[in-house]
Amino acid sequence: MKAEILAVGTELLLGDILNTNAQYLAKELAALGIEVYYQTVVGDNPKRLEETIYHAFSRADLVITTGGLGPTEDDLTKETAAKYFGESLVLDEKALAQIQVFFDRIGRTMTENNKKQAFVPEHNSVVMYNANGTAPGIIIEKDEKIIIMLPGPPKEVVPMFENQAKPYLAKKQEYTFISRILRVASVGESAMEEMVKDLIDAQTNPTIAPYAKEGEALLRITAKAKDEEEANRLIDPVAAALKERLGKSVYAEGETNMETEVAKLLLAQKKTIAVAESCTGGEISSQLVRFPGISEVFLEGCVTYTNEAKMKRLGVSAQTLEKFGPVSQETAKEMAEGIARTSGASIGIATTGVAGPDGGTEEKPVGLVYIGIYNNGVVEARGFHFAGNRNKIRERATFQALDWLRRKLQYEK
Ligand code: AMP
Ligand code: MG
Repeated sequence: MKAEILAVGTELLLGDILNTNAQYLAKELAALGIEVYYQTVVGDNPKRLEETIYHAFSRADLVITTGGLGPTEDDLTKETAAKYFGESLVLDEKALAQIQVFFDRIGRTMTENNKKQAFVPEHNSVVMYNANGTAPGIIIEKDEKIIIMLPGPPKEVVPMFENQAKPYLAKKQEYTFISRILRVASVGESAMEEMVKDLIDAQTNPTIAPYAKEGEALLRITAKAKDEEEANRLIDPVAAALKERLGKSVYAEGETNMETEVAKLLLAQKKTIAVAESCTGGEISSQLVRFPGISEVFLEGCVTYTNEAKMKRLGVSAQTLEKFGPVSQETAKEMAEGIARTSGASIGIATTGVAGPDGGTEEKPVGLVYIGIYNNGVVEARGFHFAGNRNKIRERATFQALDWLRRKLQYEK
């Protein structure tokens, strides 16, 4: 089944809103194993909308529209689709009653033009009643062509697609496509690809696709299967082989992120932590604090920017700062140890670096960041060179600090 996603709305063409419906639907259709060949956007113009619907059906079996189902004059998707299929529209009492209920719930009176939304094709159609808005969605299927019309607002589109359109489409698909994501830290996308290239090339089902996301690299393993169980059976050995190859760099599977994984490890191991940050400016603390329940282990975070702050709050020695400079392995170690000691935490983590754009020297260029970790009485610090602008350097340093800690927690105990 070849599909086209057609977003209707002049506001999309003007750039006033982002076409998030298309992104959502594209992902969902891919997961269903339905190939999307085109994504189209058309304004609220009757002639162009009609042309676009005819054009879409000249190259697709399934067209999914969003928008243009509203009560106003320029909402014409349903009327145009009905014309394409040669269907006439009739009042659907249930849809009308639902619209009435919706207006009662929000305490407003239904206007006459809202009735327009309760008209549906007389034959060959399925009405998708809308629990989150007024416009019902409609499916018309006739002569091997299907149109699925969804409303515009994403908060109506998502539940309607999920609960009504998706089951309708799933029944037509013999296979589903199920993916699992491996998240890889501190190895670039191309380096990662190099490491597993032979595995990627050898696979047909499941397939393995590498891609880059901010700060991390991902491997998506996608199986074509009859059901989830069969998909997992296909994916498991491939995931295991990839993990073995990439070792400690694989930090998690699925929808998660580094701070979540670190927070989970800290809580599971009941290890308290305190953070002393210079160039990352509180970012490490801020990310850890996103995790609900972190207060059991997160004791405190300091942003110690000046030399005075590093001395006063953390007990970094004047000689260290004088001799090695604030951006140095020695300072990072004393910061990490200092925050652990003064807070009583079992882990202290610290960053100090040159985030730029100014302040770099030949010896200590912009992007040089030292990360210190104090853990179980041992303190270590390492220097890293991060590329990018000030914000990227700060983000990358934060991710690296958390990843180094994650490796210690996971593998050193
Ligand atoms: P409509 O049903 O066309 O009047 O659309 C109602 C509202 O839904 C619009 O004003 C937008 O806020 C939102 N909307 C419409 N189409 C999209 C789209 N493709 N992606 C995201 N939001 C949309
Ligand atoms: Mg509109």
